[in-house]
Amino acid sequence: MFWKKKIARSAMILVYILMIWSISNACERTIKLNIEETFVEVIFLANEGVLISTHKKKVLIDALFDNPNPNYAAPPEDMLERMVAGRAPFDDVDLVLVTHNHPDHFGASFAARFMESNPNAVIMAADDATSALKENVKEWERVQNRVFSFDLKPGATAERTVKGIAVRIFRTLHSGDLESPHNLMYLIKMSGRTVFHEGDSDGKLATFKDLGLEKEEIDLALVHFWFPLHPEGERIILDVLKPDNVGLIHLPKRLMSDAPSKIDMVKSNYKDLFLFLKTGEKKTIR
Ligand SMILES: [Zn+2]
Repeated sequence: MFWKKKIARSAMILVYILMIWSISNACERTIKLNIEETFVEVIFLANEGVLISTHKKKVLIDALFDNPNPNYAAPPEDMLERMVAGRAPFDDVDLVLVTHNHPDHFGASFAARFMESNPNAVIMAADDATSALKENVKEWERVQNRVFSFDLKPGATAERTVKGIAVRIFRTLHSGDLESPHNLMYLIKMSGRTVFHEGDSDGKLATFKDLGLEKEEIDLALVHFWFPLHPEGERIILDVLKPDNVGLIHLPKRLMSDAPSKIDMVKSNYKDLFLFLKTGEKKTIR
């Protein structure tokens, strides 16, 4: 009888070992999946144009323009054609966000081509930009259901959720306190991560404070290159947005050689601060 007890005990030990092994394996798989699920990848296109991806979603911001003010770069021709054709990395773009109707952020005729040839893409923009888009689209009925248009007063906000991407929209005056074109800042939540894009705001601390952005937990903020070099811009980043990562954008061509060393001098004030310079530069946030 003794050997029977021994076998039974050994079998139970084996069952326990197998249980522990399978539980730890499952944990490891979950951890791996969570890491993969929560990454955000940013590909810099030009000026303030970026493609933001998670493992499930793709958002293009200020990417659809081909004829900017000559002080700023545009995405190169082959990249623009890849966007229109929906070729990688621009395949299955879920959402297009336009901050405002200026030619270094938005080109209505190019945006019309993009929306016509990418039938699943949804676009959000202010009324002045969507009216320009409408004038350039050949068959508006094929596009209009995918256009979210906003007419907000400065200081007003709106919220929309599209394809599982939650977007908060903040209207501000344009840089230089211009009423027109309407500038929209965006806060995007997707796959558990939060990204902020400033567009061409007035860059004032009071404007940012009034919008209630302090409460947000921002993983990545995309703001003007000069913010960390200016006392008010610095306060916007450190006191209001408080992001884990800061990507600097909207650098004019004439400052491309000088700016990197200036940014290097203030980098240590931030958790992670980087300047986007070249088309195609990638940054992955985990
Ligand atoms: Zn502008």
